[in-house]
Amino acid sequence: MEITLARYAGFCPGVRRAMRMAQEVLGDPERPAFSLGPIIHNPQVVEELERRGLRILPEDPGEWEAAGLAGSRVIIRSHGVRPHLAERLADMGAETVDATCPTVKKAQKAAMRLVGEGYHLFIIGNREHPEVQAILGHVNRDAVVIKETRELKEWWEGQTRMVRKIGIIAQTTVDLLTFRSLVEGLITEVPEMIREVSEMKLINTLCRNTLARQAEALQLALSHDLVVVVGGRNSSNTEFLRRICETAGARTVKVETAGELDTSLLEGVSRVAVVGGASTPRERLEEIRRLLASG
Ligand code: SF4
Repeated sequence: MEITLARYAGFCPGVRRAMRMAQEVLGDPERPAFSLGPIIHNPQVVEELERRGLRILPEDPGEWEAAGLAGSRVIIRSHGVRPHLAERLADMGAETVDATCPTVKKAQKAAMRLVGEGYHLFIIGNREHPEVQAILGHVNRDAVVIKETRELKEWWEGQTRMVRKIGIIAQTTVDLLTFRSLVEGLITEVPEMIREVSEMKLINTLCRNTLARQAEALQLALSHDLVVVVGGRNSSNTEFLRRICETAGARTVKVETAGELDTSLLEGVSRVAVVGGASTPRERLEEIRRLLASG
């Protein structure tokens, strides 16, 4: 059986940077170390950091009092943070260590610029995702988050304001197909709105590393019988990879660890590809490769 490991395997630059900052923070035993929410969407890596002393601060500030934050260091993960939460941490005596990915920061700035210039802001992405929540926090929630075209019609039906200028950005890890269909949807799904609009401005906030990972996953899916996608169940970029491979017609299985892989799936398979999400350590993919090779 031929096994191909994706070239884009291992942590993306933003996650690598956040992990480096976590090591630095953990290097100071005198000060309690926290991350605001799990530092990355990979439970095994998070557990390892917890064993080394990193504590996870709940995202609800109502629960912070009991944590004893005075004098502590709190890592802001690569997804960013809502500004009022960062202010609250400072008020409680914590030092924040900002590991927000520079690409995510650009998306936050793009959102602020568009809203500041009077554009009605659309964010293509998942409303519940912490990155989108942080972007919303930077524009006082003055934006519409869409992840499916049908939501556009629903939004338009409840719309009372005149819409003259539309601004569009995306969650950095959205896949290209979703991005394209929603940008098109803004024009085709709500023609009544387009009659009112005089200007549309799109700022490309998609992450280059993610796009390269997705493009490679698509190529591998087209040329292999089976694709194993490795990553946290709560990782949205891993889920996008799974969807891309499945849409390309490849048999696709998503696992967090080698232990979850059902090797009976390999029957009759001659070419298998292993791809991983942005917060999946390269070693996890190597483990899967070894398991496949031994079977
Ligand atoms: S996936 Fe891209 S945007 Fe997200 S943390 Fe990694 S490098 Fe940054």
